[in-house]
Amino acid sequence: MKTVDHIYINGRFIKPHGTEIFELVNPSTRTVIGKVTLADEQDAQAAIAAAKAAYKSFSQTTKEQRMAYLQRLHDAVAARSDELRETMIEEYGGPYRTSSATTQRAANSFLQARELLKTFDFVKHVGISKVVLEPLGVVGLITPWNANYGFICSKLAMAIAAGSTAVIKPSELSSLQTQLLTECLHAAGLPAGVFNIVTGRGATVGAEITRHPDIAKISFTGSTDVGKTIARGAVDTMKRVTLELGGKSPNVILDDADLEQAIPVAIAAATVNSGQACMAGTRLIVPASRLDEVKRLAAKAMQALQVGDPHNPDTAIGPMVSQTQYDRVQRYIRLGVEEGAELLVGGAGHPAGLDQGYFVQPTVFANVTMDMRIAKEEIFGPVLVILSYATEEEAIDIANDTVYGLHAFVSSADVGRANKVAARIVAGRVFINGMYDEPRAPFGGFKQSGIGREFGTYGLEAYLEPKAVMGHGETSNENAQ
Ligand code: NAD
Repeated sequence: MKTVDHIYINGRFIKPHGTEIFELVNPSTRTVIGKVTLADEQDAQAAIAAAKAAYKSFSQTTKEQRMAYLQRLHDAVAARSDELRETMIEEYGGPYRTSSATTQRAANSFLQARELLKTFDFVKHVGISKVVLEPLGVVGLITPWNANYGFICSKLAMAIAAGSTAVIKPSELSSLQTQLLTECLHAAGLPAGVFNIVTGRGATVGAEITRHPDIAKISFTGSTDVGKTIARGAVDTMKRVTLELGGKSPNVILDDADLEQAIPVAIAAATVNSGQACMAGTRLIVPASRLDEVKRLAAKAMQALQVGDPHNPDTAIGPMVSQTQYDRVQRYIRLGVEEGAELLVGGAGHPAGLDQGYFVQPTVFANVTMDMRIAKEEIFGPVLVILSYATEEEAIDIANDTVYGLHAFVSSADVGRANKVAARIVAGRVFINGMYDEPRAPFGGFKQSGIGREFGTYGLEAYLEPKAVMGHGETSNENAQ
């Protein structure tokens, strides 16, 4: 049993003012593995005050200084990557391969931010004005449980690159990972107060960060409902918001696609991170003329996925993170049957022999139509729905018939044709004939999948405000930060 009874404010691990105890459960076994003392509003206020005090000098650092900090943060996180991975597996149930990838990405996000700074110009000239891109103030970073330290690192890396200081509010379900990550970040030896980490409830700590006048921006990753609450709360103090929210990403298979290749990729895209991923491609949109072939291949590929112990490197799907999440997936599977969809693979209940944890059966529904809730709503589990179309135009309409617009996938033997379809799908990222990782490309969504973008230049600029200075009397940009 582990105890997390410290938060991190002003460079020190301190006892929180909050007293609520939250139990951490290993989702593979349902055993209690830890107890965490949650921070409260007063802790959030102390963290904000520390970040505000540190901002004065940190916002004046040169980009070379910040590049050095980013290198140190990378080294400190990378040094404990095995422990971080193991904690993610234990606390979240993330399958070994997913957890390894998250761990690597977490450390690398500091290097990517460092790389970006090398060539990034904080000063540009527009006509007679000098335009200085300045950090916008203290930022609040609020993260979900499904890749907790990955999100913390990617957000913090950009905040630091910009010269901002931060108050971080991770998900309470991820307290062990957060504790370990905090030790790593502390070891990097940044000035006190540059980042502060307060794990507590969304309704208390999250809400305090959202309403506090000394927070200039919120970068939030989580559900669309909470994203809307944050956007509403942020408007009173005119905070900038970057919101990375939910998805119901379409995967359009064109009629000339190589199904033997495309369908296993589609199953992998639908079940990434055990299906607990905003980017999951959970709506498979296929030509009616090839529906039988798709159903056969989808059933085969889904059944081939190993469900079980997330420590096993062969496991593709681990448990759902919590009882709440398990119940939610069960509800949607039962709903799909009630709505009249054809249950092709899986169904309600635990997979055979896996009733000790929050394991669900990977499930595929066919004969799904867009009026069904299983086709519209984010399930956040390994559940794929298959919709069919008669014409390419109809395929595009189905793909866009959603309140979300995060990711999309297109498969075709003809890349030119796939590109034309991709151009008409409303989504922040489109993957053609595969799944790829490009951390410098913008990440974020259209419509209710969010506001703004993270990663790369777009992500950095989201932490900066342009200031136009005229009559500056300079002829060159030697003062570039
Ligand atoms: P959630 O929205 O319930 O919680 C996310 C974070 O917000 C947590 O830290 C939570 O404590 C906090 N929070 C809750 N209420 C709050 C409030 N009123 N004010 C401020 N903060 C509050 O999401 P979750 O269940 O942790 O994560 C799953 C969701 O995250 C899914 O909907 C998924 O699609 C989304 N997600 C999106 C992305 C993306 O990049 N677009 C990535 C991963 C997850």
